[in-house]
Amino acid sequence: MTAEIVYLALGSNLGDRQAHLDSAVSALREIRGLEVLRVSRVVETPALLAHAGASAQPLYLNQVVEASCSLEPDGLLSAVRAIEANEGRVRRERWSSRTLDIDIVLFGERIVDTPELTVPHPEMTRRAFVLGPLRELSPALRHPVNGLSIEALWRALSA
Ligand code: ADP
Ligand code: MG
Repeated sequence: MTAEIVYLALGSNLGDRQAHLDSAVSALREIRGLEVLRVSRVVETPALLAHAGASAQPLYLNQVVEASCSLEPDGLLSAVRAIEANEGRVRRERWSSRTLDIDIVLFGERIVDTPELTVPHPEMTRRAFVLGPLRELSPALRHPVNGLSIEALWRALSA
């Protein structure tokens, strides 16, 4: 299989957040079949609230990683889940604080919709903490479903 360019969104809001991001990037560099090409700046972002009245959570650090990937999407998901587990993430309810979250934002032009994996990540167009760092790396990249550039998606969000 030929390699495809993938984008991963990293987030941490517990413990030494920068150390968790750094460990994640180091661990990504160790995955066979994945070659890390570029990493964005780190941005600090308030946690999304799951519902009105949800208790406040610590701020997140977020970063986007660009990589060349010769794994299949499910293989990449297994690898990033293993990295999350290694960073001590205890899987509680969705949205809860976490030492490390790694989401697959884009996988080349592929559209994946299985019970385990949805790519492009369905929330990416609404999340400044994904679009901002992604725009820094690849502003002209186009979303494979709606055809809009990352720059246009970012502007739509900021408008
Ligand atoms: P969230 O990131 O939504 O807060 P989790 O990180 O706990 O939640 O992810 C729960 C599950 O979401 C993962 O185990 C995975 O099966 C699924 N998932 C679906 N699409 C994606 C994606 N694009 N990237 C990462 N995980 C995904
Ligand atoms: Mg996740």
